Amino acid sequence: MEKKELIHEGKAKKLYATEDETMLIQLFKDDASAFNGAKKGTITGKGEINCTISSIFFEYLQSYHISNHYIKNLSPNEMLIKKLDIIPIEAVMRNVVTGSLEKRLGLQEGMMLEYPIFELYLKNDELGDPLINEHHAYALQVARPEEIRLMYRSTAKINAILKSFMERRGMVLVDFKLEFGRTDSGEIILADEISPDTCRFWDRKTHKKLDKDRFRFDMGGVEQAYREILERISSN
Ligand code: UDP
Repeated sequence: MEKKELIHEGKAKKLYATEDETMLIQLFKDDASAFNGAKKGTITGKGEINCTISSIFFEYLQSYHISNHYIKNLSPNEMLIKKLDIIPIEAVMRNVVTGSLEKRLGLQEGMMLEYPIFELYLKNDELGDPLINEHHAYALQVARPEEIRLMYRSTAKINAILKSFMERRGMVLVDFKLEFGRTDSGEIILADEISPDTCRFWDRKTHKKLDKDRFRFDMGGVEQAYREILERISSN
């Protein structure tokens, strides 16, 4: 599949057109950013690692009939994806308290949530991706009620599937962010990526952080942590 013009460049990925107008190429960069772009850096090898990790998760979810935009890998850091109309909402699911939830509600980091929390954030860099609820989404006309319902159901299913997948490999799926898009026929399917950039993973026994928090908080061993995730999810 031939790579044509660059159509979008984000903080961690680039999107290219292809000769097929229903498909795009998603290229994963080594660039890393945190705190709404205030902290920037590079993580050597991250592009290839995250592309591979995302492919493994997308294929695994497809085996559970969770439709997503992944088609196939084209190179170590490039995947062919279905072109979608992306809904400008970040869907976050949390199993354990940390990050912005810990701060917002003054909760103890590491507290297990008996009922996972589903949150919506509006994708808007200027506003720093504010937390919204479904009624804001309808008023802003970024998604319809049945679309938000579908996003919730899909995120809850993905949480159950990936939580036990990670548990079997000695890790806790702390929280994660998903993005969804519409196909031409109006179907809502999973898009973007699923990687240590967009999920929090802790070692089950030691609670060692194996994700982007190591970059956010200058904890060192960022690349090793990303590699460890890849190694652990590649084994059966
Ligand atoms: N997250 C993300 N992109 C964002 C914000 C959050 O992928 O722009 C992910 C983050 O990696 C974590 C989850 O969503 O797995 C919840 O993040 P939180 O709200 O705690 O964000 P923080 O402000 O701590 O990044």
